[in-house]
Amino acid sequence: MALKIMILGVNGFIGSALTEAILRNRDWEVYGMDLADNKLGDLPRNERFHFVEGDITINKEWVEYHVKKCDVIVPLVAIANPAQYVTHPLRVFELDFEANLTVVRQCVKYGKRLIFPSTSEVYGMSPDSVLDEQSSPLVYGPINKQRWIYACSKQMLDRVIYAYGVRDNLDYTLFRPFNFIGPNLDNPEEPKEGSSRVFTQFLSNVLYRKPIKLVDGGGQKRSFTYIDDAIECLLIILENQDRRASQGIFNIGNPGNCISIRDLAERTIRIAQEFPVLRENARATQILDVSAGEYYGKYYQDIQVRVPNIEAARRTLGWQPKTDMDTAMRRTIDYYVRQEGFGSRAAALLAGG
Ligand code: UDP
Repeated sequence: MALKIMILGVNGFIGSALTEAILRNRDWEVYGMDLADNKLGDLPRNERFHFVEGDITINKEWVEYHVKKCDVIVPLVAIANPAQYVTHPLRVFELDFEANLTVVRQCVKYGKRLIFPSTSEVYGMSPDSVLDEQSSPLVYGPINKQRWIYACSKQMLDRVIYAYGVRDNLDYTLFRPFNFIGPNLDNPEEPKEGSSRVFTQFLSNVLYRKPIKLVDGGGQKRSFTYIDDAIECLLIILENQDRRASQGIFNIGNPGNCISIRDLAERTIRIAQEFPVLRENARATQILDVSAGEYYGKYYQDIQVRVPNIEAARRTLGWQPKTDMDTAMRRTIDYYVRQEGFGSRAAALLAGG
């Protein structure tokens, strides 16, 4: 029988890409809820996709009913943007922790398989140069650095899920995304600075001819992972052949794409010039140094290097990432510039002064 999968936050960056891949490559049914449908295109027309617009914190009966009805539950609803950890820490706790805890408990109650998004952020300022699911310490700053409320919320859920696995034999998989990038992560046409994760933010700066801002010199490093590679891994996890992913924790990341934020800025400017609509803007884009305090405020604290060990995913799931950094960036930019009317909002704003 075809798998029935429930995806909460189905219109998000991961949810929408995962749904598309499932409907294209598998015969599974998807039951999805989200606040909006703007990233879903015409997917809701597919007869194997049952989409409902709603809020998981309000439409609680729909959620519980579908936990009961489905085989696998993928709760992707969360605030996952560092700018918001420092401005709305309690919202992060309420949504990322509290709302998800309810769903986790329902999975235990109805004996359902749970695929849960942990985060590379759980490692925090771990001293390990390569981050390992089984052995790396998880290290956070003091309480007055509110950034860590996200990592802490996620870590606590990881621990709760793990404990349900030990006590009640909950069938779960925790996956830890390492800076996924690709179409629809954030909207580069959003003019408000600080509303996006770093690559989309830089793209947006190019589009609006604003200087790219490097926080504290841009020496920090991240391992950027192209969304298609990540989705391939998630499909293997969902398939769960021979229960290979059951009760496992997997980093999903691309250690080959570990680059500094300064390098990312330079690449963005270089690669954007390959696209006629961005060429002039990219040539004119400057790079500016700002302090973390100026950019994020006093509640922020950064992570210097984040490189995943992906041996577990390689060995257990037979997965490894394929997309190099420049290709990932090129594909993402290519997607955006193909959108109808791309750049017109920015052009109008620039023309209007
Ligand atoms: N960053 C930056 N300029 C920006 C936005 C972000 O220098 O305009 C830095 C930020 O301080 C962090 C890195 O880029 O070190 C990645 O930030 P992102 O928001 O993508 O998320 P993170 O990887 O920290 O979860």
